[in-house]
Amino acid sequence: MSIEYKLVSRQNHVQDSIIRIGENIFGGENFVIIAGPCAVESEAQINETAEFLSTAGIRMMRGGAFKPRTSPYSFQGLGLKGLQLLAGAGERYGLSIVTEAMDIVAIEQVAEYADMIQIGSRNMQNFPLLKAAGKINRPVLLKRGLSATIDELLLAAEYIFDAGNEQVILCERGVRGFNDHTRNMLDISAIPILQKLSHLPVIADPSHASGRSDLVVPLSRAAVAIGAHGLMIEVHPNPQAALSDSAQSLDFSEFQNLIKEIEPFLPTSGSSHD
Ligand code: PEP
Ligand code: MN
Repeated sequence: MSIEYKLVSRQNHVQDSIIRIGENIFGGENFVIIAGPCAVESEAQINETAEFLSTAGIRMMRGGAFKPRTSPYSFQGLGLKGLQLLAGAGERYGLSIVTEAMDIVAIEQVAEYADMIQIGSRNMQNFPLLKAAGKINRPVLLKRGLSATIDELLLAAEYIFDAGNEQVILCERGVRGFNDHTRNMLDISAIPILQKLSHLPVIADPSHASGRSDLVVPLSRAAVAIGAHGLMIEVHPNPQAALSDSAQSLDFSEFQNLIKEIEPFLPTSGSSHD
C-alpha cells in the first residue's frame, strides 16, 4: 500500500477536517446534501430547482455549466451563461453553489461564480488542473476517477494540498465494473476506508454511481448508514426532459421521499439540514 500521501493522511491530522461553505458543514458528525440538475439548462429550470431545494431545507446546489460528455454531439452545457444563471439562482434562494471546472483555462472563471469547484471523475488525474485547484481560494470537490484506486484518489487530493489548498472533499461516485445493470458500481467500502486513511470529508454520489433513479434511494441509505459525510443527488423539475443524465435524475417528489428515507440513518447530532 502506498504511503506517499502525507498531507491528507490521518497520521498527519488525527481530527476530521471540517469544511464550512455557507450554511453547510462537511466533516465530523455533520451531514450535507448537495442537490441539483446534472446541467444548468435554462433560467427557468435552475430557478425552479433552486426554489424547490431551498424549501426542502437544502443549502447547496449543483449544476454543470461545462459538461464532460462522452459524445461531442451531446449537450455540452451553457458555459459562462450557465455559471451566471447558477450563481444568480443560488443567491436568490440562499444556496451555496458547486460546479465543475474542466480545465485550467476555465478554473478562475468558475471560481468567480462558485462557492466550491468540482473536479470530475474524468479529470481526477489531470495533474495541471489539480495543481491549479491548489492555487484557488475555494474548496474543491474531488470525484473519484472511473477506474481510480483509493490510493490514486488520495494522491490526487495530495496534489491539491501540496499546491496550497487544504479544503478538499472526496466523492465516491462509482467505478467501472461488470455489473451490466448499472452505469458504474458504487464502491461502498471506499467510504469508511477513505475516512480511516484520511481526515477529509467523504461524500457519495449515488446518481452517477448507478445511472438509475430507482436505485438512488437505496444507495443513499447505504451510503448514509456506512457513515458518508454527505450525498450529491441529481434533481430535475422534469427528468424525462433533462438534457443530460435523464435516467438517473429524481423529480421533486422523489427527492422529498429520499430525504425521508435516509432520515433513520443520519448522524444523530449536527445534521446541517432539517
Ligand atoms: C457530474 O457530477 O456532473 C459528473 C459529470 O460526474 P462524474 O464526474 O462523477 O461523472
Ligand atoms: Mn450528471
